[in-house]
Amino acid sequence: MRKPLIGLFLLFLVLLPLLPTPEFWITLANYIGLYTLVALGLVLLTGIGGMTSFGQAAFVGIGAYATAFLGTRYGLSPWIGLLAGWLLTAFAAYGIGKITMRLSGHFLPLGTIAWGLSLFYLFGNVDFLGKYDGIGGIAPIAVFGMVLDSGRRMYGLIWLIVIACILGASNLLDSRPGRAMRALKGGATMAEAMGVDTAALRVTVFVLAALLASTSGWLYAHLQRAVNPTPFGLNAGIEYLFMAVVGGVGSVWGALLGAGLLTLAKDSLQSLLPKLLGGSGNYEVIVFGILIVVLLQRARDGLWPLLANAVERLSPRPRKTTLATTLTTAPAGAPLAQRDKPRLGERLLKVERARMQFGGLVAVDDMVFTVQAGEIVGLIGPNGAGKSTMFNLMTGVLRATGGRILFGGGDNPTRIDRLPARAIVAGGIARSFQHVRLLPQMSVLENAALGAHLRRAPGEGRGQLGRIAAAILRLDRTEEARLLHAARIQLERVGLGDMLDVPAGALALGQQRILEVARALCCDPVLLLLDEPAAGLRLREKQALSSLLVKLRGEGMSILIVEHDMDFVMGLTDRLVVMEFGRKIAEGAPAAIQSDPAVLAAYLGGIDD
Ligand code: ADP
Ligand code: MG
Repeated sequence: MRKPLIGLFLLFLVLLPLLPTPEFWITLANYIGLYTLVALGLVLLTGIGGMTSFGQAAFVGIGAYATAFLGTRYGLSPWIGLLAGWLLTAFAAYGIGKITMRLSGHFLPLGTIAWGLSLFYLFGNVDFLGKYDGIGGIAPIAVFGMVLDSGRRMYGLIWLIVIACILGASNLLDSRPGRAMRALKGGATMAEAMGVDTAALRVTVFVLAALLASTSGWLYAHLQRAVNPTPFGLNAGIEYLFMAVVGGVGSVWGALLGAGLLTLAKDSLQSLLPKLLGGSGNYEVIVFGILIVVLLQRARDGLWPLLANAVERLSPRPRKTTLATTLTTAPAGAPLAQRDKPRLGERLLKVERARMQFGGLVAVDDMVFTVQAGEIVGLIGPNGAGKSTMFNLMTGVLRATGGRILFGGGDNPTRIDRLPARAIVAGGIARSFQHVRLLPQMSVLENAALGAHLRRAPGEGRGQLGRIAAAILRLDRTEEARLLHAARIQLERVGLGDMLDVPAGALALGQQRILEVARALCCDPVLLLLDEPAAGLRLREKQALSSLLVKLRGEGMSILIVEHDMDFVMGLTDRLVVMEFGRKIAEGAPAAIQSDPAVLAAYLGGIDD
C-alpha cells in the first residue's frame, strides 16, 4: 500500500478511540483487528503458499485456552500465557504440518477440517478446560502497570500488534525466504531446482500462520475475559477463510480489508435480515454464501486488487524505480561467494547407462555420455527423443529407473541420481526449463534472484529460521541488496538489464527463456543445463545468446544444451550427442555429426535443410 494512504489509515486508527466514538464501534474495531491477524496468516498460507486451511480457528483456540488455563489455574501472567500458547501452537502446527503438507490436492484442506473439528470437541469435553462452559474470570493484560480491562484500553494493544504483524509479513514477503515462499505456488519443481526445501518451507509457513492465529486467540481471551469452544469451531474456520478470500489472498492488506468488510457486513446483516425475513436465524450465512460465489466469479483475487486499481486510476503512481535504483546499486561489504571452477578438460559429468521407464515407455534407454569441464556439449535429437527427460534425471526432478549419474572432477565424483533437486543445484548444476517456469507476477529481478536462493557472502551464516526472523525485522537489507545486485549483474549480462521491474509474465516468450538462463546463472553453477533456450528468439537474440555462452565457456563454465536450430548448435558446440527413442545414436564433433548417416536418417531428410 502507498505511504500516504497508510498514514491516513494509521491516523484514523489512532483517532478512533480518542474521539467520543460509541463503545459499540470500538468493540467492532477490536474484533476486526483480531480477525485480521488470523486472515493475515491465511494470506501467507493460501495466497502466498498455495495451501488451504479450514482449521485456523483451532489455533486461535489454543492461544486462547492456553492463557485462560494458566492464568486462572496457576495465576500466571498473561505474557507467560502468550508464550505458552505460542509454544503449544508451534508444536501442534509443526506436527500437523509435517503430516498434511506432504499430502497434495484435497487432502490438506480435508486434514485441516479434521484437525479443526477434533480440537473443537477436545475443548468441549476436557474437564480441566471447563467443557462446553469454558473458562471464566480471566485476568486482564497489564502493560507497564496499565491494566487493559476495557475494550477501549485493549484497542491500542490489539491494533499495535495487528499493524506490526502486517508490516512484518510484508517485510517477510520482500526477502529471500519470502521469495521462496511466493515460489511455492508455482509448484515445487522449479523452487526445488533453485535449492528451496519446499516441504520444510511449507511447514514453516503453516507454523507462522498458526502463530498469528494463536496471538489472536490470546488477545481474544483477555478481551472477552472468558473462553468457550464455540468461537473456535469449524464455522469460524470457514469464516476466516472467507475473510482472506474476500479481501484478496495476494496481499497482506487484503486480510485487513476482508476482516473489516465481513465483520461489518455480518453485523448489519444480523440485525437487518431477521427484521426483513421475520423470526430469528443465521440468515447472514446464506447471504455470505451467495456473495462468495459471486465474488469468485467476478473477482477471483478478492477485492483488494480492485481497490488498489481504483486508487491507481485516481492518482497514477510515478513509474516504479525503487528496486532498480536503491536496492541493487553498489551493496556494501563483500559480494556473494563464487564456486571455484574445475580444471579445464577434467571430467565433470558422467552418465552411465541412465535409464528412465514410464510404464511401458522407455524414455531414456541406457544413455552414456560425459561432459568435460569448459566444454559446450549439444544434446540433440527429434522431438520425443528423451532429451528433457535426460535433463530431469540429471537434476533430480525424476529418479532414474536404472544406471548412474556421477558429477564432479577428481577421483571422487558424487553420485547424483539419488539426490533431491535442491542438493544437486547446491552442488553446482543449474538448469533452465523447456516449458518456462517463472512466476509471472513477480518482477524480472526477483525471478532471477530466486536462482541465488542458496548463495551467501563469505562468513554469512544464518539458518532458514534466522533468515526469516531477520527478514520480518528488516535486518536483512545488506544481504538482500547483495543478492539483488548479483541477480542484476546476471540480467545485464543476458540483456535484460532494463527490464528489472517488469513482471516476468509481461515478457515475450523468447525473453522469458533468457530470463530462465539468467536465473540459472544466479545459482553460480559449474555446469549449466539449458533446455531449448533459443526457441522463439530472433536471429539477433540468438547471436547474443551464442556469444554469451561462448564467453561463459571462456570463464570455465561447462554447458550442456538442447537445441533444434542446427546453425546455432553447429556454430556453438564443441561436441554433439544425438538421441533418438531414448538411445544415443551418434556422438562426435559437429562437422562429423552433420554427415552421419544414422543422424540424417533420424532427422528424415537431413539436418541441413
Ligand atoms: P524431448 O525433450 O527429447 O522432446 P522428452 O524427454 O520430453 O523428449 O520425452 C521423451 C518421451 O518420454 C516422450 O515420448 C514423452 O511423451 C515421454 N515422457 C516424458 N515425460 C513423461 C512423463 N512424466 N510420464 C510419461 N511419459 C513421459
Ligand atoms: Mg524437450
